[in-house]
Amino acid sequence: MSVSKYSRFKTRVVDIGGVPMGGNYPVRVQSMTNTDTLDTRSTLAQCVRMITAGCEYVRIAVPGIKEAGNLKNIRKLLKKEGFDTPLIADVHFNPAIAELAARIVEKVRINPGNYTGKKGKPAEAGYWMEEKNYNRELEIISERISPLLKICRENGTALRIGVNHGSLSERIKTRFGDTPKGMVESALEFARICGFHGFSKLVLSLKASNTRVMIQSNRLLVKELKSAGMDYPVHLGLTEAGSGEDGRLKSAIGIGSLLSDGIGDTIRVSITEDPEFEIPVAYGILQATGVRITRTEFISCPSCARTLFNIQEAVEDVKAATAHLKGLKIAIMGCIVNGPGEMADADYGYVGGAKGKVMLYKNQVLSKKNIPESNAVEELVKLIKESGDWVDPVNA
Ligand code: SF4
Repeated sequence: MSVSKYSRFKTRVVDIGGVPMGGNYPVRVQSMTNTDTLDTRSTLAQCVRMITAGCEYVRIAVPGIKEAGNLKNIRKLLKKEGFDTPLIADVHFNPAIAELAARIVEKVRINPGNYTGKKGKPAEAGYWMEEKNYNRELEIISERISPLLKICRENGTALRIGVNHGSLSERIKTRFGDTPKGMVESALEFARICGFHGFSKLVLSLKASNTRVMIQSNRLLVKELKSAGMDYPVHLGLTEAGSGEDGRLKSAIGIGSLLSDGIGDTIRVSITEDPEFEIPVAYGILQATGVRITRTEFISCPSCARTLFNIQEAVEDVKAATAHLKGLKIAIMGCIVNGPGEMADADYGYVGGAKGKVMLYKNQVLSKKNIPESNAVEELVKLIKESGDWVDPVNA
């Protein structure tokens, strides 16, 4: 069976502090600090741990104006330690905070759900259904966001319209419901306003804690973007995935499904653990979906009565010897009955033969026969070397 070629929703390139996102650039990995942003020392130390783990953009929560001001110190100290990773300020909309942050960091995230023009008592039922009230509200938002867009433009700062399912505005919920459609509209309203002001350095995100809502809303978003002729990069993530295995599984399903559809230009795995632990999960999801290959991919069968060697040990030994190689696919299969057929597009195959014997394949072609199990890994490494695919491990 042929597998359809991976095709990514072609987005515009948005440069974020010299690390571009979108277009054909790799899907970027980001995470967010959970320290007190006024505690410069802890925030700095956490940023360094995240960056060292592979985080390509560091997002920092900015709940108040003091925190926005402190971004300057964090930035300065990070530079002093030799890190120029782009910083993102996470603001749940307050214009003054976003405007200050936009002068300091490379990207600002605002939540359109927290952004309303209407002051005073909540609107009565039906208020938002009236076109004149709705349009007036959008005009007020447009006026209020205009200074921020001007600052972003002057400073080369990008903006993320970050919609959360749990904080949709009353305006959106009344008109479109608490639904994927409502989430999409929440982002598009702001994208249109930004477009009206000629601002296009935008990234969009629709997050939910419910995996299916997150998947459906992002699929709908891309459909609507395409029909509106928009091509903004899409940031993927679940809002509260949980911790441990649950958090990792939910993230893999939510983010991974969309990546497999060709949707997503940056991802953030949100688990209730220190943010540096999110980074290996993010790379794992990118690798598993084949969207960004950063290490060797191993495929192995579950084994069965036809397996005549210790496959579990062999998998660990092959991994230990070859995991540092980038971009190869190595299959470890239990038997020659089904193994060669099942290992499909693997570059190398380590396949069980007669009792205690192994067959080695290169691109599904048998290269070495009846190798004793005890030196099969060594022979596999030799085969990889002979084929020109070997590089020595960095700390060898
Ligand atoms: S590849 Fe062979 S050993 Fe592995 S599960 Fe299939 S039949 Fe069993």
